[in-house]
Amino acid sequence: MKKIAVVEDEVYVRQELCSMLEKAGYEALEMTAFEDAAAQLAVLEPDLVILDLNLPEISGFQICRDLKQKTSVPVLVLTSRDQMQDEIHALKLGADEYLTKPCRKERLLARISNILKRYEGRTNLLEGEGFLLDRSTYTLYIHNSSVVLPKNQGKLLEMLLTGGEEPVTAQQLCEALWGTTEFIDENALQVNLTRLKKTMANLKMEQKIVAVRGIGYRLERSAEP
Ligand code: CA
Repeated sequence: MKKIAVVEDEVYVRQELCSMLEKAGYEALEMTAFEDAAAQLAVLEPDLVILDLNLPEISGFQICRDLKQKTSVPVLVLTSRDQMQDEIHALKLGADEYLTKPCRKERLLARISNILKRYEGRTNLLEGEGFLLDRSTYTLYIHNSSVVLPKNQGKLLEMLLTGGEEPVTAQQLCEALWGTTEFIDENALQVNLTRLKKTMANLKMEQKIVAVRGIGYRLERSAEP
């Protein structure tokens, strides 16, 4: 059963939405605390999030931004804000759909089902700048073709992608590669990073690996040639 999280502060609307979803055969996750909604959702791993924009403590825009950085969950914004600029802003932050309240039940359910179909099979995909990485096979989809990365390179890229803007430490990378932090071999890590850097350069990827002094590594958009 697909899980749909409802991030909506008006109790009556929230309950209506949840009961509608349940009747349509979904499992509804009712969110009642909003400040750390993105973190809670990253743990709950819903298949889709219905997101209100006007919330106490935090704006839905912020939740959308955080969610899209942390996860690949689709977001359907359902709001009373009907200004074009709000819609554009939400879409720029990665929202998959923007509907205004009041919204007919049939329309909402149709959009939900569309988004879920679009995302089917994409749950293993991590998104980078101009490429996708399948974390189950380490297949990299780029420039309309695909390349299967050697396992260690795939693991490193996966870690760097899930890190987002935050640098990933050498310790975390070693743990991903060798499953232990007990012995950290900086040289072996360097060898693997160098191989991945070379692969990324050969594929003319838009992002490259940069070292963050004293902390670790992260992906950064390459300067335009
Ligand atoms: Ca609201």
